[in-house]
Amino acid sequence: MIERCLGARKGRKIQRFFRHCKVTLLCLVLTLVVIRGTIGAGKFGTPEQDFNEIRSRFYSRKRAEPHRVLEEVQTTTSTSTESNNYNEFDINKLLVDEEEEDDKRYSNKPYSLGQEISNWDEQRAKWLRKNPNSPNFIGPNNPRVLLVTGSSPKPCENPVGDHYLLKSIKNKIDYCRLHGIEVFYNMALLDAEMSGFWAKLPLIRKLLLSHPEVEFLWWMDSDAMFTDMGFELPWERYKDHNLVMHGWNEMVYDQKNWIGLNTGSFLLRNCQWALDILDAWAPMGPKGKIRMEAGKKLASELKDRPVFEADDQSAMVYILATQREKWGDKVYLESSYYLHGYWVILVDRYEEMIENFHPGLGDHRWPLVTHFVGCKPCGKFGDYPVERCLKQMDRAFNFADNQILQMYGFTHKSLASRRVKRIRNETSSPLEVKDNLGLLHPTLKAVKICYSK
Ligand code: UDP
Ligand code: MN
Repeated sequence: MIERCLGARKGRKIQRFFRHCKVTLLCLVLTLVVIRGTIGAGKFGTPEQDFNEIRSRFYSRKRAEPHRVLEEVQTTTSTSTESNNYNEFDINKLLVDEEEEDDKRYSNKPYSLGQEISNWDEQRAKWLRKNPNSPNFIGPNNPRVLLVTGSSPKPCENPVGDHYLLKSIKNKIDYCRLHGIEVFYNMALLDAEMSGFWAKLPLIRKLLLSHPEVEFLWWMDSDAMFTDMGFELPWERYKDHNLVMHGWNEMVYDQKNWIGLNTGSFLLRNCQWALDILDAWAPMGPKGKIRMEAGKKLASELKDRPVFEADDQSAMVYILATQREKWGDKVYLESSYYLHGYWVILVDRYEEMIENFHPGLGDHRWPLVTHFVGCKPCGKFGDYPVERCLKQMDRAFNFADNQILQMYGFTHKSLASRRVKRIRNETSSPLEVKDNLGLLHPTLKAVKICYSK
């Protein structure tokens, strides 16, 4: 042990000696370099000259300093991609695509959604016969349904908008899981001319043609939320219809009122008729001049419609009101429950609903859908105060989320609260808990049992 210590001390002495030597050697080399440099430059002058030179070099370095600091600052900002701070990062750096010109038409031909198809019913029937393992009906009144929703390819104008998009898709996933409905979320603008509220048309067409096994496509806006997790659509009622929207016959056909129906949540059957009505619906959609001119026409033809660019809802009212004989018999305007429900008349009554009713009703007692028309949480400006919109969207979300959480033994502390509390104690036999039947059998029936009082 002692020997090892002595050995170590000896080693340190040797190290110190070598370090000393290194420093001496370094000094020698430096001296030689300076002398050589001075001789080489032919400036082996007087001490005064040397002093002046050193002084001028010193000052010039000093003067260069702010410049260098500035340069360093500039380099750090230009390489801020290296930063780990998400708050500092400007997302626009990643958005490489240029904005499209507004008035650009991409061809001189009249607008079309795609290649003409006239025998879709036959093509689809043939496919269904060939693919018996992908039936379009799961039971006699149980059509295969695909819920389709989506949002712009770009981030929202404000970060909080994306949070509400997330809440909204979470809400839809919950409903669809309970009801055996598949979900498609789209963020791609499939056709540059059909931007904004028109983006759903080319998307719906593409999905109908790509999914012959889907019987009904259910479009739902991103600003609409399910508020009745237990309500199953009355599919039987629609067996002879191809398009189901929330609305009223008199308001559409007699009054031509632009809010006589709503296109924020509707069902479309996968058939030739659907492709045809999409074709009839699309021509007012191309952005720019066509959409602006069509907007003026709609404003003059429809009741109470303000002048703004053509929107898909007004265009649908216009088509039905002007061509009722062509489309009317296959269109079901539903008003016995809220396939779409205007948020303003619903959100203040959630507590009252909880007090008096239960999920599974779908109507004014417990609305299937609460649609935040005019709120625009993903945009810059809406038609209502932002605080009111976001507060009520949270309440709608929590109202719906409670119906999910309660199956797991939790509930939100209030409709305004993100926090949850337990409503059941843990048990050692979790499968025997009556209230979580929804977990055992994630079907509508279970949800209903869960809520029956
Ligand atoms: N939408 C889309 N892509 C877009 C813009 C909108 O898929 O680029 C969808 C989105 O689901 C939205 C719906 O189209 O809810 C209707 O668009 P609108 O501009 O009318 O929005 P809202 O009035 O529903 O806020
Ligand atoms: Mn909407």
